[in-house]
Amino acid sequence: MKFYEMVIGLEVHCQLATKTKLFCGCATDGFGAPANSRVCPVCTGQPGVLPVLNRRAVELAFQAALALDCELAKTSIFARKNYFYPDLPKAYQISQYEEPFSVNGMLDCSLKDGSTKRVRIHRIHLEEDAGKLLHSIGAEELDYSLVDFNRGGTPLIEIVSEPDMRGSEQAYAYLTALKKVLQYVGVSRCDMEKGEMRCDANISVRQAGAEKLGTRAEIKNLNSFKGVRDALEYEFRRQTEIIESGGRIIQETRLWDSAKMATFSMRSKEEAHDYRYFPDPDLVPMDADCAWVGQLKAALPELPAARRSRFISEYRLSSYDAEVLTGDRALADFFDAAAKGLSVEAAKIAANFMNTDLLGKLNATGTPIARSPVPPGNLKALAILIENGTLSSKLGKDVFAKMWETARSPDALVSELGLSQVLDEAQIKAWVDSALAGNARAAEDLKQGKERAIGAIVGAVMKLSKGKANPALVNRLIKEAVTGL
Ligand SMILES: [Zn+2]
Repeated sequence: MKFYEMVIGLEVHCQLATKTKLFCGCATDGFGAPANSRVCPVCTGQPGVLPVLNRRAVELAFQAALALDCELAKTSIFARKNYFYPDLPKAYQISQYEEPFSVNGMLDCSLKDGSTKRVRIHRIHLEEDAGKLLHSIGAEELDYSLVDFNRGGTPLIEIVSEPDMRGSEQAYAYLTALKKVLQYVGVSRCDMEKGEMRCDANISVRQAGAEKLGTRAEIKNLNSFKGVRDALEYEFRRQTEIIESGGRIIQETRLWDSAKMATFSMRSKEEAHDYRYFPDPDLVPMDADCAWVGQLKAALPELPAARRSRFISEYRLSSYDAEVLTGDRALADFFDAAAKGLSVEAAKIAANFMNTDLLGKLNATGTPIARSPVPPGNLKALAILIENGTLSSKLGKDVFAKMWETARSPDALVSELGLSQVLDEAQIKAWVDSALAGNARAAEDLKQGKERAIGAIVGAVMKLSKGKANPALVNRLIKEAVTGL
């Protein structure tokens, strides 16, 4: 029995979050807009026009590289990648080839078992997107194709990893970590449904322990993280079967079909020289000015991994809670705003409410956290009311539900609904006495040392107090009453 492993490298294209295109002033909000409503002579390749580089796109690209620990090249150049396709009116794409702006980075990815996988980044380069071909209008299939240039010229970065991943779960973890970093920094919105993040996967198979890499296939058309995982699993099985039966893997480009859950051969893999790359004579070399790079670095926000560590050290969160709460930047910002200045205990209460009640409501109703009817200040106030004993955790949950419905503060709700927890010992003692009288059997069991019998009596007190008696006091007073202390 031979064991095989998959060797995976990913190429991820991300749309930079600029207002305008890479070499012209057309808006980048063309997704869903009328076809060809975001075009001009530059991005439709008319004669007599020249490209002008978008400074903001370069800033975002540089910040992505800095956040991924890449080296920035002092000088990089734009190159023309020549090929004909109807969505590419110039018949070349402006990209970077021999001298990309950035190389040699890395990204640490959290795996499910709690360990971390470091994936090296080979290079990041800047390029423009192509337009889009349409083969149908609504439900109507066409026997011809239409072209929409709204997307043509949109700034992209292509992030090329080293072949460091050894399984589909690692590839999934890498994509998750990459998306998180790019969103934190504000480089890209990474909305895959809008095509703002796209992925091609290179996968080869070799016997476990072998040093030499196998022949790889490149899989295209992966438009979700799940699609990447499924396609890699399929391709691993396909390649392993070919090798096992004595066949040879062909280097080729394959397409993932998510409906059939299979990859299909698209074309034999093209070589770089097929594209006749050469430096674009219309664009000057791009210099990374030191002072400017310094400013961009200083402007980077706290990155997800650092924030996760801080949540663990500053608020004493479990690593699971910290992972969830740093899942995206808006969530992490919300928690920071709610927990700032709270005691460690109250911060933990706030974290629990966020991870269960708040995220539950947001997910169930499809509400983004920015539009949560419970703002961070109200969550903070609720955590304080529970920590100082005004509310039991049970009542806290009820109050939270009301906060979600009414968007009001917990303090207002507590006084209006008369919900605060009862801490008055004389009142609780009265409830305890009547609960003991009404549950003679349980009281007797408890007296005999059967600790579990206390549950029935606590329950009776909670019923009498409508859930408002402080549980710690109830427990203590029951024990005192039974033992006669
Ligand atoms: Zn344009």
